[in-house]
Amino acid sequence: MPIPGIRGFKDILPEEAKRWQHIEKMARDVFRCFGFNEIRIPILEKTELFARSIGETTDIVEKEMYTFVDRSGESLTLRPEATASMLRAFIEHGLYAQDKIQKLYTIGPMFRHERPQKGRYRQFHQINAEAIGLDSPAIDAELMTMAMHILSALGVSGVELQINSLGCSHCRPQFRRDLQSFLGTRQAGLCPDCQRRAVSNPLRVLDCKVERCRAALEGMPSLSEYLCPDCKTHLHAVEEHLRLFGVPYTINPLMVRGLDYYTRTTFEITSLALGAQSAVAAGGRYDGLIKELGGPDLSGMGFAIGMERLSLLIGDLQKIGEEPILFVAAMGENASVMAARIAHRLRLAGIQAEIDYEGHSLKSQMRRAGKIGASLVLIVGDDELARNSVTMRDMKSSRQWAVDFNDDIEALVRRIGKEMGRVV
Ligand code: ATP
Ligand code: MG
Repeated sequence: MPIPGIRGFKDILPEEAKRWQHIEKMARDVFRCFGFNEIRIPILEKTELFARSIGETTDIVEKEMYTFVDRSGESLTLRPEATASMLRAFIEHGLYAQDKIQKLYTIGPMFRHERPQKGRYRQFHQINAEAIGLDSPAIDAELMTMAMHILSALGVSGVELQINSLGCSHCRPQFRRDLQSFLGTRQAGLCPDCQRRAVSNPLRVLDCKVERCRAALEGMPSLSEYLCPDCKTHLHAVEEHLRLFGVPYTINPLMVRGLDYYTRTTFEITSLALGAQSAVAAGGRYDGLIKELGGPDLSGMGFAIGMERLSLLIGDLQKIGEEPILFVAAMGENASVMAARIAHRLRLAGIQAEIDYEGHSLKSQMRRAGKIGASLVLIVGDDELARNSVTMRDMKSSRQWAVDFNDDIEALVRRIGKEMGRVV
């Protein structure tokens, strides 16, 4: 009996992996232009890091983390998100001593024990960006613009940027209290999860997707009316910058995020094409979190793009710039040696070159060349070889012609390169 993979843990097969490579390449390029540097961090952290940053009463910490005790008796957790780990590294290595402004990104797997469905897995992948040490609303708008730009660079259209402000430690507590008492009057109408949240984490109720909870929120106090003057000014400035960058957005006053550390600006990028799991990217500001984690009092803002959902949005529509492939078909012993030699030489010159390993007929080698999508086939036969001649076949036009190479393999290799539009 074969052993299957784990539920919610998905293999990314070669066809899709190509798309992922393309996504990563484009994202890295955008990060470079916006001045973001890569940081690579472990996927395991001490459990308390997430409990303290994401918040004890969030869904993630309460019921979604992969937590276990390791052989030395320590409680460890597979990271459910990247911000906490990035900030931990930022603090631990004193990166702020070199420069208090750090723009960082990382790409990798996250783990949450959720119910697997389309666009929702237990191991999923994110592209994460964090801008640390900047209070300016300009950076909030820049991050949103950058996330939108990554999507548009990948040919994704039809997405919507929704923004909101969650207020700060001055204005949010009053809203939280008033919301809590409001929810107290609506207890009966809430789903069991929200009846609990109404007490422990009332803002989370706003984010609940259950229909009756949405209805129960009718007439709730409006967060925007509670924002202090500083938070209001900040939000307006973010909007101004978005207009400056020409990025369309809508304000969604119900958008809170599933993590407790957010302050002021939060945002989500959604697409109707994703169905129920509509958010492809999300992020926000987290002033106070770095200090809370034992670091300096610096603010921060970040986002995460979900790669599985992004990959769904790109679909097969995008013809990802494919590199040309050469197939060297050989007939006979000397020809096989020559084929291997030419393929090797071209591989070192950066061209994908394939050969036959099993002495197949020319017909079957041509079939294989077609199957792997070769654009050019070089046909080498013992007899022709003795006359210093080979045949080239352009697979698209089916045009075929003889090439004499006068014992000069280098000249032949250059000729192949030219035929394939590559300098070798
Ligand atoms: P959702 O509302 O979809 O559960 P979230 O608020 O939990 O998202 P974040 O923690 O903000 O999501 O993560 C940012 C992005 O990561 C999401 O917008 C989504 O694209 C992706 N993501 C989150 N959880 C999963 C998952 N279980 N499987 C696949 N992608 C995910
Ligand atoms: Mg979630």
